[in-house]
Amino acid sequence: MFVRAGRGGDGSASMRSEPYTPHGGPDGGSGGAGGSVILEVSGRSRDLAWLRDHPHQRAEAGGPGRSNKREGATGMDLVLTVPDGTLVRDEDGFLADLIGEGTQVVVARGGRGGRGNAVLSRGRNRNVHSVEKGEAGEERRVQLELRTVADVGLVGLPNAGKSTLLAALSAARPKIADYPFTTLTPNLGVAGGDEERFVVADLPGLVEGASGGKGLGHRFLRHIMRCRVLVEIVDLSGDRPDADLATLREELRAHDPELARRRRLVVGTKADLVEDAEARAAELAPDALVVSAVEGRGIAELVERLRAAVRTAAEEEEERTAEVVLRPARPPFTVRREGSQFIVAGRNVERWVAETDLEDARRVVELQRRLVKAGVERTLSEMGARRGDEVVIAGRVFEFIPELEGDINDGSA
Ligand code: GDP
Ligand code: MG
Repeated sequence: MFVRAGRGGDGSASMRSEPYTPHGGPDGGSGGAGGSVILEVSGRSRDLAWLRDHPHQRAEAGGPGRSNKREGATGMDLVLTVPDGTLVRDEDGFLADLIGEGTQVVVARGGRGGRGNAVLSRGRNRNVHSVEKGEAGEERRVQLELRTVADVGLVGLPNAGKSTLLAALSAARPKIADYPFTTLTPNLGVAGGDEERFVVADLPGLVEGASGGKGLGHRFLRHIMRCRVLVEIVDLSGDRPDADLATLREELRAHDPELARRRRLVVGTKADLVEDAEARAAELAPDALVVSAVEGRGIAELVERLRAAVRTAAEEEEERTAEVVLRPARPPFTVRREGSQFIVAGRNVERWVAETDLEDARRVVELQRRLVKAGVERTLSEMGARRGDEVVIAGRVFEFIPELEGDINDGSA
C-alpha cells in the first residue's frame, strides 16, 4: 500500500483591521495538523482484500489558519481496520505485528500546522509578516501480510481431504476439487456448534519439497505458525498412508523445527473408501482418529478431541502480545554546509533563535545551552565545524565556539 498523511495547514498572515483600529497588528492563526494514517485491528475485518484493491490511502489535510487568531481545522485521521495478526513492514523493515483487538500503528504521521503571524511575532521577533507553511504529511510504502490466527490448522498433502473436512466441521464452503492446490489461500471456518467454539483453518496443500521453495505450498507454510493445534490429515485410501504422513512431517520440520513440537492430532480421512480403515489408521499413530467427511463418520468425536486440545493449548500458551516498532520522528534539526558556513535548519532550533533577544547575554547563554542539549554542537563538530566558523540559524549568523573545546584550550584569553 501507499499511504500518505495529510499536510498541515499553513499559518495565516492576517493583519487585524477594524473600523477604529485599522493597523491592529498581526492576528493570523496557526494551521491545523494534518490527519495521520493509522492501521487498527478489528474483529470485523477478516482479510486484506479491500486494502489490496484500494492500495492508495491518504488522510485529510489540516485547514489553514485564519484571521482573528482562529486556528485551522485539524485533519481527520484515517483509521483503516485490519485483521488480527497483520504484519506491517516498510522499506526499512519490520514495523508492527498487530495482535489483539484495537491494537494500532501509525503508518504515516500527519504534518504539523504552520504557525500564524499572531504567534510568530510574539517575543523578540518583530516581523509581523512572518508565517510558516504547513508541514508535509509523511508518505510511505507499506507491505501488509496477514498471518492466519486459528485455533486449529488442517495440514496434509494435496487432495488429502482438508477442505472437505473443514466443510464437515463448519459452515465454511471451501472449494473442493480433485487436483492439487485447490486451496490457494487459507479457508477459515468456525467449528464447535453452540458450545465452546474454535476457528479451523484449511491450509493450502503441501507438496514434497514445499519448504525448499518448490511448489505453491511454500508461500502458505508460514500460516501454520499461528495455529495452536495441528491436525495432520492423511488419505487412508492412498497407496502408502504412512509414507504420506512421513512426507508431510518432513516438510513441516524442514520449515520450522518448532512445528514438530506443536500439539498435534493425526486424522485418517476417506474411511468410506477402504475396508480396513481402523487398521490403516492405527499404523499411523496409536491414537489416530478415523473419519469420513462424506459419511459424517467420526466427525463428532473429532470435534470433541479438538475442543479439548485447543483448550489445553490455550492454557499453556503465553499471552500473545502486540509488537510495534517506534521509529524516531524526523530529526529535530539538520545541518548542511554552504561554502564556509554551516546552516542549521529545524523548527524548534529556529524558533529558539527567533525568540531570543540576542542583545541579552543571559538569554544567549540559555540559547546556547539549549542548542548543546539538542545536539547541535556535536553535530556541527562531526560535520567538521571548527572554532570560529560561521553558523547560520534562522537567518542569524553565529560564531562557532564549542563549549567543550573552549573549556579545555582557552587558556590564552
Ligand atoms: P484438499 O486438497 O486436502 O483440500 O482435499 P479436498 O477436500 O479438496 O478433497 C480432495 C478429493 O477427495 C475431493 O474429490 C473430495 O471429494 C474427496 N474427499 C474428501 N474427503 C472425502 C471422504 O471422506 N470420502 C470420500 N469418499 N472422498 C473424500
Ligand atoms: Mg483444499
